[in-house]
Amino acid sequence: MEVVFERIVKKYGDVTAVGGVDLTIKSGALHFLLGPSGCGKTTMLRMLAGLESPSSGRILFNGKDVTNLPAAARGIGMVFQNYALWPHMTVRKNIEYGLTVQKLAAEQIRQRTDEALTITQLTRYGDRLPGQLSGGQQQRVALARAIAVRPTVLLLDEPLSNLDAQLRLEMRDNLSRIHKQLGITTVYVTHDQKEALSMGTNVSVFRAGQLIQTDPPRQLYHSPKSAFVARFVGETNLLSATYLGQKDGLHSVRTAIGAVDANRSMVNAKSGDEVVVSFRPEAVKLNIGGHDSPADNRLSLKLDHLTYLGESEQFQLMGPDGTLVRANVFNPPDHSLAIGDSVTAWVAAEDILVLPVETDQPAST
Ligand code: ATP
Repeated sequence: MEVVFERIVKKYGDVTAVGGVDLTIKSGALHFLLGPSGCGKTTMLRMLAGLESPSSGRILFNGKDVTNLPAAARGIGMVFQNYALWPHMTVRKNIEYGLTVQKLAAEQIRQRTDEALTITQLTRYGDRLPGQLSGGQQQRVALARAIAVRPTVLLLDEPLSNLDAQLRLEMRDNLSRIHKQLGITTVYVTHDQKEALSMGTNVSVFRAGQLIQTDPPRQLYHSPKSAFVARFVGETNLLSATYLGQKDGLHSVRTAIGAVDANRSMVNAKSGDEVVVSFRPEAVKLNIGGHDSPADNRLSLKLDHLTYLGESEQFQLMGPDGTLVRANVFNPPDHSLAIGDSVTAWVAAEDILVLPVETDQPAST
């Protein structure tokens, strides 16, 4: 089922929760709505479900206008963060409930329930009450209940937020597997960028009621169109810079800690314009453990702070003016650097992105 939001606005009194969003969710996608608290993600989901009406704009299912269709007629399955299971009903009864409401024949109800239990790997737990299950198992019951009704679209609102870190990782794999198996168009709301990057076929980033960017995870991480997206999706170094011009296909900029050349620019800048450069901590190389730096894109910094994590080491480096640069070195070599020591860092031009200066008002799409 393809879902289209067309110029959707939702106002609550003076508050604009969603401020004019155009978005297409492709049939069969696992599409994430990602953004900080209060950016309008849940409101988008509730309008899709028919639990809220847009103030203006249209919602289309496979081209058909469903804006005024009541929730019950949309055939949607939902999983919320608190699962909302019936505590006095067994797992099986919880799943059967929605099917009974649909007035399916007894045999069909049994078959669909068995299927949902199998796919969520809960067959052994059919006769238990929710209170006799772990958080992860309860989460799977909520999912089983939602998919048993064969929804047109599956909506997941922060479904993993009540689980511990280990279980969240397991459930990510589970949800991805189930999505691949069933191919149901799924819309998933989260503020956890790792969930979105690891599972999503597409990710839409929201800010203050505006859709900022929609892309597949790799593209979003590699080519954020704004400093906000670069910062929200992964970690990044953002440095104020002055655009100097293009030479040999590279964009030259001057930052407070030196001049660098960047392969790519998301802004049509001319010489003298203020811009921002973005490069990921894992793209910063250091002259430690015998590594030497190439002549280009070198930054002379001092070590400000060090965090050793075993598989990686995080270096916080500082320029003479106080500019901070973070470097994340995987499989870190042995070294004897101390706070205040000089460090040469360098970043390849292909890992540097020139972005527009952020304004207070988020850009509308
Ligand atoms: P969170 O991650 O915290 O759930 P969100 O991105 O899902 O946030 P929404 O719940 O969609 O954000 O809320 C968007 C904005 O609309 C917020 O400013 C919120 O306070 C406001 N809002 C949401 N529902 C209502 C309501 N029923 N009445 C008034 N304001 C509301």
